[in-house]
Amino acid sequence: MSAKILDGNAIAKSLRGDIAVQVKQWVSAGRRLPGLAVILVGNDPASEVYVRGKRRDCDEVGFHSQVQHLSANVTQQDLESRIHSLNGDHSIDGILVQTPLPDHIDEERVIDCIDPDKDVDGFHAYNIGLLALRRPNFRSCTPKGVMLLLEHIGLDFKGLDAAVIGASNHVGRPMGLELLMAGCTVTAAHRFTRDIAAKVRLADIVVSAVGKPGLVSPEWIKPGAVVIDVGITRGANKKLYGDVQFDAVKEIASWITPVPGGAGPMTRVALLQNTFQAARAHLGFSE
Ligand code: NAD
Repeated sequence: MSAKILDGNAIAKSLRGDIAVQVKQWVSAGRRLPGLAVILVGNDPASEVYVRGKRRDCDEVGFHSQVQHLSANVTQQDLESRIHSLNGDHSIDGILVQTPLPDHIDEERVIDCIDPDKDVDGFHAYNIGLLALRRPNFRSCTPKGVMLLLEHIGLDFKGLDAAVIGASNHVGRPMGLELLMAGCTVTAAHRFTRDIAAKVRLADIVVSAVGKPGLVSPEWIKPGAVVIDVGITRGANKKLYGDVQFDAVKEIASWITPVPGGAGPMTRVALLQNTFQAARAHLGFSE
């Protein structure tokens, strides 16, 4: 059996098209454009590429966007005061601080400063808390994007076994909460997990978010499982690698995402959906 490829580029493109249509209707009703502000600190080349991509996505669907590019030496106080002023800016619905941040910056404090109603990345403790309580507001973009992929193939989640490999605050943990909310029985695996292969092998859905190329081998995968590879590592040759041994796992799984072109574009489309959601809420339209 050879798995079907879950083409995140194609699915994200179609979802962007839907958003663009909704934005046109929104604007023709006389409303202001949804607005996203991105704060980029320093000159990390990968972050610059991600921010350019986010800006391009905003242009494509018709959002207003702005990027504040700050020096790597910015102080905690300066960065926080930028966020406070964006919190009060009525043309901005969503605020995103691109990570990683320089070592001297306390990232948790930075995220705590973002108004939870503008936290379109879904990283604020308030929004993670709502997700844990099954009352999601802004859902973290990568896990939300993965759920959009899984919904696209029409999975009936209830009762399925899911394994999430990686338990970070931004990806693995909210991913587990999403799958739990959907009715899966979730195993959260991480660097201290013993006999990880035995645990992952029970899963109907496997999401890997570690950042270790080739970590997930075919022996870990139950025949017919759906395998989502969130990991992205840039090799010395500049090529991007996922966590999953794609060619071998493809022969065992029923569906599999490529890297690049799987979870990445879905993360970006989830950001657009969250920003539009924020604009609707700010202008008094409930979901
Ligand atoms: P992180 O470093 O914060 O977390 C990694 C997690 O992996 C930790 O919970 C750690 O315990 C776990 N881990 C480490 N070694 C392990 C092992 N041998 N076995 C099992 N678990 C292990 O990283 P992150 O921010 O969660 O990102 C994870 C990966 O996802 C990275 O490659 C990152 O680039 C990628 N990523 C992709 C997207 C996307 O849109 N596709 C978005 C965010 C992150």
